[in-house]
Amino acid sequence: MTSKPPPICTEHNTEKVWQQTVFEYSEDGVSVKVQNVWAWVCPEDGEPSFTPETVDALIVTVRELVEIAKRAKKRQPALTEYAVAVG
Ligand SMILES: [Zn+2]
Repeated sequence: MTSKPPPICTEHNTEKVWQQTVFEYSEDGVSVKVQNVWAWVCPEDGEPSFTPETVDALIVTVRELVEIAKRAKKRQPALTEYAVAVG
């Protein structure tokens, strides 16, 4: 994917940069953030474009985390933010 020319941000007319950013996913009022995910990022506003391969690789885990977070919310409605690290 890095052998192709960088995609252009149509809004700012600039070349996007291949770098690590935050993958964010929201569903039913729950949002999940995954740190340090590679994506094409607009240097003007930081808007990321994730490749389909990246989304496919992450989406199963992210959806599982959403289900866990929903159960946690029912159990402890006062707690609204959890951070999880795996390494
Ligand atoms: Zn842009």
